[in-house]
Amino acid sequence: MKTALVTGGSKGIGKAISLELGKDCKVYIGYNSSKEKAELVAKKIIDSGGIAEIVEINVANNNSVLTAFEKIESNGDNIDILINNAGVTKDNIFPRMKEDEWQEIIQTNLTGNFYTSQRALKNMIKNKWGRIIFISSVVGISGNKGQSNYAASKAGVIGFAKSISKEMGSRNITSNVVAPGYIDTDMTSSINDESRENIIDQLSIKRIGKPEDVANVVAFLSKEESEYITGQVIAVDGGMTT
Ligand code: NAP
Repeated sequence: MKTALVTGGSKGIGKAISLELGKDCKVYIGYNSSKEKAELVAKKIIDSGGIAEIVEINVANNNSVLTAFEKIESNGDNIDILINNAGVTKDNIFPRMKEDEWQEIIQTNLTGNFYTSQRALKNMIKNKWGRIIFISSVVGISGNKGQSNYAASKAGVIGFAKSISKEMGSRNITSNVVAPGYIDTDMTSSINDESRENIIDQLSIKRIGKPEDVANVVAFLSKEESEYITGQVIAVDGGMTT
């Protein structure tokens, strides 16, 4: 059985990914502030006959990342599948954006993936097998008003993931990006009804995305059967970016 780590695995898209991977893998549900929610996700997997544990991991802090991997390894586990899902927003129109608003988003959404991926690759290289899946965003492809920091972090993830795919393909390690469109989670809960309707108007598939829409694609990319797919960006966006 493979072992997966999902950063930010306790809610939203990360929760759906954890539950889906929990059908076939041992899952470490990463949490930063939502420990109780992580415990509930683990319980749900275990109640369905799966294996899950929770692990504290603040991706913006390399010491926290290293401690989390030490804990996982001290349990006798190695991460075969890394899901770089944790992410935050701090929106502001660019002329008014403060440097700390820029740095915080780059640190969590981009540099955090550097810490987790480099650490996870140690064992993947040794085992000659691995899957790294990055949760970017269509905003990293198209840009978005008020989200220059977030768009830069999510675009950075794409170049980063493609570079890893080229370096690691010969070791049976794939590196792919899933770029969600508008998905119903806490991150998008402040968008008002009128804006939601406007977004739906622009989609080919006339509904807001569900976390499970993203999780199903991530689950496929984490499997053996996806071994010939690497360096790709797959939008899960109801046709927003076509
Ligand atoms: P969400 O419900 O707000 O969840 C965000 C997750 O990120 C939480 O589990 C949170 O963990 C974790 N997190 C935040 N800062 C962290 C840190 N420093 N270290 C570790 N974990 C941290 O948002 P979501 O919509 O599920 O977002 C998941 C991913 O999808 C993000 O990368 C986001 O950018 C991306 N995305 C979302 C949408 C959308 O429409 N929802 C669209 C495109 C891309 P704690 O609660 O434990 O702190």
